Amino acid sequence: MKLANRITALTPGGSDGWEVFYKARALKNSGQPVIELTIGEHDIRTHMDILAAMGKSARAGHTGYAAVPGTENLRATVARRIEAQSGIPTTAANILITPGGQAALFAAHMAVVDFGDTALYCDPFYATYPGTLRGVGAIDKSVLCKPERDFKPTHQDLNAAATGARSLLVNSPNNPTGVVYDQATWEGIAKVCQDHDLWLISDEVYETQVWQGTHISPRSLDGMAERTLVIGSMSKSHAMTGSRVGWVCGPEPVIEHLINLATHTTYGVPGYIQDAADFALNQGVEAEMAVAAPFQRRRQIAMDLIAEQNLIRAVPCSGAMYMMLDIRATGLTGEAFAHSLLDAKLIAVMPGESFGQAAAGHIRVAMTVEDSQFKQALEVLLAFSASLN
Ligand code: PMP
Repeated sequence: MKLANRITALTPGGSDGWEVFYKARALKNSGQPVIELTIGEHDIRTHMDILAAMGKSARAGHTGYAAVPGTENLRATVARRIEAQSGIPTTAANILITPGGQAALFAAHMAVVDFGDTALYCDPFYATYPGTLRGVGAIDKSVLCKPERDFKPTHQDLNAAATGARSLLVNSPNNPTGVVYDQATWEGIAKVCQDHDLWLISDEVYETQVWQGTHISPRSLDGMAERTLVIGSMSKSHAMTGSRVGWVCGPEPVIEHLINLATHTTYGVPGYIQDAADFALNQGVEAEMAVAAPFQRRRQIAMDLIAEQNLIRAVPCSGAMYMMLDIRATGLTGEAFAHSLLDAKLIAVMPGESFGQAAAGHIRVAMTVEDSQFKQALEVLLAFSASLN
């Protein structure tokens, strides 16, 4: 029986660049002591206080259908948070609660691109981006963000790609590069969106993990709130990856349509999960900093080690839980390097090629193991690189 093209085209088939990840998992499952610096999962679990709030809500009976747009409390809390960050008036009516940032990304594109429209995204990219765009029937078109420009999109490159496009998807702090976009980059993005009448989808799921500079949400820029959909999530900020709770923030008419979409797809997010998210967001900034702090520490550990040699270069990473390392001086591709490192030293990193063309010759290191093990893994990685020369 023939399947719909919509679903068969989600992933391109053939090599998806994630073979190292699967190989590492298989080795680990067979009992090998593999150190996995691959995916964006914290080495801590959701805080017990958040779980207590979740249990309390469930025991109090919040286990039936919850309001499809999200509970009034959580929508209002998210709105207050976004208003405080952006200075843009924001109410519960601007917020749809979704089962995680991924569902929010899909919903946002469903709202703004029609079948056959061109939807832009930046390369290097988070693994699901092209499939998400194809999943809503769009033609996915990447804009290369080159290592020479610290993987930031330039106005010139965006402008050249934007003719006829409907939307642009951006992500800062960025996965996989760890780069945080500066004001000039945002101004270039805003200008392209305004000149070409693009919707901007701004994936801000790493907004609490900024080590240098500040997080700027494009919703706060002049004239951008009306064309920007912000994607947020509790996954990274509160180590709640498994709870599946996130949001879309955007103009009220868009959210009204997205509520319709939710009625016909997810039918909302469990009430006790939303109550736990509301509790977590009301714990204030210290709770978020406690979740983020290990990555900042490990980034410093890595930067200090990298400064002691001059073969491997770190992309100036200012946020998120990853570092992108330029390994081109070893003469290997990211893929060959990652496979050799895994085979020789049982350390798993992601090849840059898994995230598009622009990060070829790089590897992404997720800073997701405990400090001393992380330090040791980086030492081995650097010694291994030197031995290749
Ligand atoms: N965007 C980016 C850039 C991500 O890295 C992730 C998760 N790794 C997501 C969105 C989706 O996160 P979630 O669905 O868990 O909120």
